[in-house]
Amino acid sequence: MIFFVVFVCFSLSVLCGLSFLFNLMTLSAIGGLKFLDLQESYFKKNGIMFKKIIQLYIISLLITVSIYSESQPNELGKFLIITYHVIGEKDSAYTRTIQGFKDDLALLKKGNFYPLKISDLEKRNLNVPRGKRPVFITLDDSSQSQFDLDEKGNINPDCAVGIMEDFKMKNPDFSLTATFFILPGAKHPNNLFGQEKLTAKKLDFLVKNNYEIQNHTLWHANLKKYRDKIEEQIVESQKLLNKYLPDYKMTSLAMPFGIYPPKDYESKLIAGKHKGVEYKHNLVFDYSNRASFSPYDKEFDPIHVRRVQAFKDNIEKMIQKYSESNDAYVSDGDVNTLTIPKKLEEKLNPKYKEKLKVVSY
Ligand SMILES: [Zn+2]
Repeated sequence: MIFFVVFVCFSLSVLCGLSFLFNLMTLSAIGGLKFLDLQESYFKKNGIMFKKIIQLYIISLLITVSIYSESQPNELGKFLIITYHVIGEKDSAYTRTIQGFKDDLALLKKGNFYPLKISDLEKRNLNVPRGKRPVFITLDDSSQSQFDLDEKGNINPDCAVGIMEDFKMKNPDFSLTATFFILPGAKHPNNLFGQEKLTAKKLDFLVKNNYEIQNHTLWHANLKKYRDKIEEQIVESQKLLNKYLPDYKMTSLAMPFGIYPPKDYESKLIAGKHKGVEYKHNLVFDYSNRASFSPYDKEFDPIHVRRVQAFKDNIEKMIQKYSESNDAYVSDGDVNTLTIPKKLEEKLNPKYKEKLKVVSY
């Protein structure tokens, strides 16, 4: 009897191309038979029990196959940091339509993505369930199209926040969040979402509803041109935000136009001081339309973190690609363990070898 069970397990395993399953099932079969002290004669007398055992194996086989057909973890893969600007009526390089934004959220959910905040990336805390892909939704320039309230104080369902709140309500299993890169000193309607009298209310809503706010300079200065004003642009932006949210500290910066100052000035993007106020940024973001390296990859550069552009066609293709690609970051579900394919081992930043438990396969 044992030989027969071994044969069945082996055949099924070969069929599925899962050699380890053979070992697992065979061992459990032999162990199970010994445990129950079942003899061959028993099976002859008791066909029902035999059928049940076979059924059990088929169920366990199906479960194992379904687990292994999901994406293998790869925490050295690339992921998307998506950049939206205006949410509006017509598609353009800097505008995503209302329907387009809704479609993107649905595609992200369908593609097994899991949205996180920029501060999660700062802390290297990509706490994502097993098999899911981290994604970062960022919205630049704090325009009214991103957050609009009517006379009664209700959120316009067609602004970015309205669309996201509706999506959150209808999809409670999708942990939607986003990060706003703001311009507190810009001209209307980019001065903290327009509607000056409602600024405090909007910022309070964002903070209380799991959104994040980060720096995009005071008024979108080209920091190559204004290289001597880098510290002023960053600190004055922070100070204006603190008029509404006194304790809120912005800890990352997105480069206006994606334009960087000369190399000698780049350290000022990370840390500096203006009129006695100091700042420290953990990450600085570009606008290069490329997927980001994993933060554990040697090539991940905290001063040039890559973001992709959310305009029609481009963003759909990007989402599609990274929902399927073997090069995409797929979580192992454990923040203390770094699971990576063996062939990528040499891409790993050595400092994480000590900090985290590395599992390669
Ligand atoms: Zn911008």
